[in-house]
Amino acid sequence: MEQFEVTGNCKYCGVGKMIQSLDLITDERADLNVTNSCGCVGAISNRQLENALGKIEELFGKECTKFGVTPATEEQYEILKNAAKSMAYDEILHVTYGFGNGVKAKICKNAKDEIEIIRTNTSVIKRTT
Ligand SMILES: [Zn+2]
Repeated sequence: MEQFEVTGNCKYCGVGKMIQSLDLITDERADLNVTNSCGCVGAISNRQLENALGKIEELFGKECTKFGVTPATEEQYEILKNAAKSMAYDEILHVTYGFGNGVKAKICKNAKDEIEIIRTNTSVIKRTT
């Protein structure tokens, strides 16, 4: 079977790599392919960011109702996305937001340099007579 050879470039460091494919793929697709497997700082940070955004979506987006919790507001969601971006590019190491009603969002890097997204709900019911 005939194979096509295309060169793609990492969109962060520019390193070129030959890709073999059974289908003729576009330059953009080849670039994406090389970027996704590149080990440079930019590509790694971008992959971390993509993963973190997925976790934020899971824990604070519309789908979070499956955990019996309320989705974050649009503004809160924006704040979390920006924090994840800063985290991926090592501008901040950890941050905790209090969203009211006992809802807290913590974003931090663990010892393995992975970004952790933690949602906590601390609802206290207190009665005094
Ligand atoms: Zn690269």
